Amino acid sequence: MKKDGHSLSKSNVIEDMPLACSNELAAVEFFEKQRWGNDPCCVHCGSVNVYKMEGFDVVNGQLQRVRNKRFLWRCKDCKKQYTVRIGTVYEESRIELRHWAYAFWRACTSKKGVSALEIKRVCQISYKSALFLMNRIRCAMAPDPYDTKLSGIVECDETYIGPRKARYVKVGKRGPRKDIPKTAVFVAVERQGRIRRRIIPDVTGETLKGAIREEVDRRACLVTDEAYGYRGIGYEFQSHDHVNHSTREYARGPIHTNTAESSHALVKRGIVGIYHNVSREYLHRYLWHFDFLWNNRKMNDGERTILAVKAAEGKRLMYREPNAVQ
Ligand SMILES: [Zn+2]
Repeated sequence: MKKDGHSLSKSNVIEDMPLACSNELAAVEFFEKQRWGNDPCCVHCGSVNVYKMEGFDVVNGQLQRVRNKRFLWRCKDCKKQYTVRIGTVYEESRIELRHWAYAFWRACTSKKGVSALEIKRVCQISYKSALFLMNRIRCAMAPDPYDTKLSGIVECDETYIGPRKARYVKVGKRGPRKDIPKTAVFVAVERQGRIRRRIIPDVTGETLKGAIREEVDRRACLVTDEAYGYRGIGYEFQSHDHVNHSTREYARGPIHTNTAESSHALVKRGIVGIYHNVSREYLHRYLWHFDFLWNNRKMNDGERTILAVKAAEGKRLMYREPNAVQ
């Protein structure tokens, strides 16, 4: 593969990322390269008649002459100035782009993600900044609302995420305490394929069936456990088989929900081991992150990082968050 020092492909991402994470100029060039390739264009009008304003930068909102900084672009057609940050999740952030590069890299290469506290320690930024940064990155990883529905053999299951410490468990009664309820998460996963997770308000048949109808193609073969909420959904799909966990039946040939159970395990290990505590309000963003890692698990680390960086474009105003708890 041709190595020109810029293209972060399979072979040289390991060499180039550390530089982008330590040097601000290299980080800016990295983000510009990922966004525009070899043809930089205006973010306002799309014109390619643009040039770099060498020796200028915006410092505290003022255009100032600075040494060794070339972050600012100007369009000859619409006469507007811009930087690579405009129209991305890192717009209006004062955090240096090298920290963004590091956070993107870590978020895409660690199997269970990375905590904001770790980003804080490594990048030496405040916890508030690190949390803001990680939440923006998770927004960049949000699922594409126009993606096709799941097909083939699709396993559906639900799990509960929430406090598990003894002090939250009511003594003498079964189940979690009512005032600190666990959050129910529904998952639909293609065998050898994509995954969709979402927070659901309850596990009634109406909610579960509604979630399945929204996520799964009608020609798919459903596999679930014996939960009451899934009964009767089979008529709307090609087929519906279930395993009976209550009688210790976990697999009957290809009929099992072990892929879904495995995906729950990854989320739970991540929350226990990496994040320690996840608020219900932001849980859906963590689920997006886990989904992104699962859906792109067959890529190598460099390709996955680049995919997330490219997805950061145009996501800035996405305040209508799918799957959010209302
Ligand atoms: Zn322009």
